[in-house]
Amino acid sequence: MSTARVGVLALQGDVREHLAALTALGVEAVAVRRPAELESVDGLILPGGESTTMAKLARIFDLLEPLRARIKDGMPAFGTCAGMILLADRIVDGAAGQETIGGLDITVRRNAFGRQVDSFEEQLALDGLTDPVHAVFIRAPWVEETGPGVEVLATAAGHPVAVRQGRLLATSFHPEVETDGRIHRLFLDLLG
Ligand code: GLN
Repeated sequence: MSTARVGVLALQGDVREHLAALTALGVEAVAVRRPAELESVDGLILPGGESTTMAKLARIFDLLEPLRARIKDGMPAFGTCAGMILLADRIVDGAAGQETIGGLDITVRRNAFGRQVDSFEEQLALDGLTDPVHAVFIRAPWVEETGPGVEVLATAAGHPVAVRQGRLLATSFHPEVETDGRIHRLFLDLLG
């Protein structure tokens, strides 16, 4: 049981699943759509979904700059799939003019695994966990390049798919669609 209050960016995507995963771990979980809600949380999850839509909505809802500011100030954040793209400093194969929140010194390739393997699942070994996780990839990005402060926690098809840099964590896959709370717990550990 933790006393932390954790937000889930609730513009689009797997919001409900992340809220449920946090609640199952005994954490107070809140949907974040407004700057005041963002200010009230100790950490934030950026869900899977569609990164271009989320970035546009974040701008429309006046959340993009507040999100950048809080991440710059050291707020712990965890991005899954589209959320990983939102946290990335650089995108390859993004939509024209696609903005990110940034903070994580990585280059991500959107829809990296290609059409034939649009979606797949595998047992993935992840640094920091003793047993593999069941990882679900859905039109997932992979990490193409990492800056010096970035730790690679897991790879698939020879590319990083789970990374950590300080208090930022990102996965190409969707731990929120599983009942295994171990990756959410790794994130909660970053809240300190
Ligand atoms: N391909 C999506 C994007 O670019 C991410 C897919 C997902 O989150 N499942 O945002």
